[in-house]
Amino acid sequence: MKKSPKLSTRITEISAAGPDGWDLFRRARAMIAAGEQVIELTIGEHDIRTAPAILQAMHDAAKQGHTGYSAIPGTPTLRAAVADRITAQTGVVTRPENILITPGGQAALFAAHHAACDEGDTALFIDPYYATYPGTIRSVGAIPLAITATPEHGFQPQSNHIAAHAAGASSLLINSPNNPTGAVYTAETHAEIARICLDHDLWLISDEVYDSQVWDGTHLSPRALPDMAKRTLVVGSLSKSHAMTGSRVGWICGPEEAIEHLINLATNTNYGIAGFVQQAAIFALAQGPAFEAEIAAPFERRRKITQALLAGQNLVQASTMQGAMYAMLDIRATGLSGESFAEALLQQEKIAVMPGESFGRAAAGHVRVAMTVNDDAYRDAFARLLQFAQNLAGTQKRRA
Ligand code: PMP
Repeated sequence: MKKSPKLSTRITEISAAGPDGWDLFRRARAMIAAGEQVIELTIGEHDIRTAPAILQAMHDAAKQGHTGYSAIPGTPTLRAAVADRITAQTGVVTRPENILITPGGQAALFAAHHAACDEGDTALFIDPYYATYPGTIRSVGAIPLAITATPEHGFQPQSNHIAAHAAGASSLLINSPNNPTGAVYTAETHAEIARICLDHDLWLISDEVYDSQVWDGTHLSPRALPDMAKRTLVVGSLSKSHAMTGSRVGWICGPEEAIEHLINLATNTNYGIAGFVQQAAIFALAQGPAFEAEIAAPFERRRKITQALLAGQNLVQASTMQGAMYAMLDIRATGLSGESFAEALLQQEKIAVMPGESFGRAAAGHVRVAMTVNDDAYRDAFARLLQFAQNLAGTQKRRA
């Protein structure tokens, strides 16, 4: 019998780098499926579901007939609603023609790289990184090149490191507020990034899906910096800001010409998103910033819980709880790697956190805690995590 024809290198190499870093998560899920009680502080998803009023809007829209093919770039009303949110947040006058609606921020990340990179081009990104970044870049046939941001610099990328790799690259992908580190880039970091993009004629792909979750400092969109609107593709999403992860509503905001071409890509790939979901997204955006603050509030509360518990000890450090729904903990003082620590915590305490190593080399010796269970359960789990770290360190000392 003949074998299947050869698969394209482009697709077989998406996960060429080996394990995807989600082993521990899958094991935790398997333990839960087998009936074990595991506290999951792994993935970036709210502990609440999408608001009933948004679901009602979705239901009503479907009943009213928004069930056929919908506007591929997004309906004019939805594009305008996203453009208005961006204008209000950034002061950059943004029009519906600057917006393409995508099935979530992930599809926007793919499309943005598709627009910025030709086959074989170098696409820069910052390590630690959101787990899909290198695979997304490889999916468009480009070559991912990681720039390390270190804990010593609060995970702010350093301009000399970026500049050293910028010559000949096509794009630079950044993410502030950052997953996994919780860093919010300073105005200085953004200014330096903009300068490098201008000097080296790079596209800047700015992943701002956590823009509604800033606790320290302010969210800055680099598209608002001088001359940057022409070379910035902003990736946005309702997943985190409106607790709508499953609805798959995201967007790219960029120069009109780029958006026109990106509409061709959408026409030839996903063919838009569901009309009833677009109507629900319009309703969700109409709730305004107060609703977004309400969705973000639990993470701000749990951040305070985290900081209060951390203040009672000096072994585990969290330097960058400036934004997003994560605490990136430096557990190097325990003598373990992030992977060993997370593994032991799962086995002994039945608490699942992500090893820093899942997000690149720069977060080795760290674990990422998603603050995604109710406040009491979170306080209890975090206190146990700290006690566990203390016990480990004690054992280390006795051995030494
Ligand atoms: N960017 C970052 C940094 C993320 O953390 C996520 C989701 N966890 C995404 C993009 C994609 O989000 P979505 O596709 O749900 O909009």
